[in-house]
Amino acid sequence: MNPYRVKPETKVRLDDLPTRSDGGIEKADGKAQLAQLSVQLSDLQELLYAEHKQKVLIVLQGMDTSGKDSTIRHVFGEVNPQGTKVFNFKQPTPKELDHDYLWRVHQNTPGKGEIVIFNRSHYEDVLVVRVHDLVAKSVWEKRYDQINAFERLLAQEGTTILKFCLHISKEEQAERFLARLDQPSKRWKFNPGDLEEREYWQDYMDAYEDMVNRTSTDWAPWYVIPSDQKWYRNLVIAETIVKKLENLDMQFPKEVPDIEKYRGILEEMVAEESQ
Ligand code: AMP
Ligand code: MG
Repeated sequence: MNPYRVKPETKVRLDDLPTRSDGGIEKADGKAQLAQLSVQLSDLQELLYAEHKQKVLIVLQGMDTSGKDSTIRHVFGEVNPQGTKVFNFKQPTPKELDHDYLWRVHQNTPGKGEIVIFNRSHYEDVLVVRVHDLVAKSVWEKRYDQINAFERLLAQEGTTILKFCLHISKEEQAERFLARLDQPSKRWKFNPGDLEEREYWQDYMDAYEDMVNRTSTDWAPWYVIPSDQKWYRNLVIAETIVKKLENLDMQFPKEVPDIEKYRGILEEMVAEESQ
């Protein structure tokens, strides 16, 4: 059993869950393992695409600087961009706001043979929306059940769902903001507004805690990943995804019919061309 999985029907306290852990692994070994897992993931994705049966949805949530972008780069770096899509959920457009909050989400869920990664997701509608009172409590309160029902629909229709909450400490976030300022290649990511969000840290933690407690289900579990150390975060996420995909028991499609006949035809063509 994955120790970071939040069991349905149990209550966790985010404060009690580690933001820093190395799982007893040396960093160099962890990086080597990740390199292997990335290749495995790439092979599994190819199989998924070829089989054209399963759908996989991966949700990434976490505070600013928790490493959502960087996880995608490191874990999916080896994967063929065909058959994998990433969606970033930003502030809703006026048109999106005219619809229910799951409207823009449902359109972007994976089709057969696809892996879709949500960089932020419908969970923003019980996080930032809740913290900033963008809708009334009576409205966001209902969303946990709505989301569970929505994800159950996706799962019943053949979508495997994995949700990762990238858990970092407030101290680590400050260091990462500083690193963004200091490194010219990262500076573009620095947004002074993010520092204002930091003022709401505890409100966010309360909202995240309710989120994982109320929406970790058998069909769409949350994994709260210690994310203060990037290499360990990447390793655990890659391992979790690879294990899950391996258990899907996928098969390459059946062999082409009349393969011997076509082999004969092609061998003749090759022979002719080489004359
Ligand atoms: P970024 O971190 O650059 O991807 O910024 C995306 C911003 O959009 C974040 O501040 C999110 O909180 C915000 N956002 C995403 N979804 C929603 C939503 N449903 N309602 C309000 N803000 C959102
Ligand atoms: Mg941002």
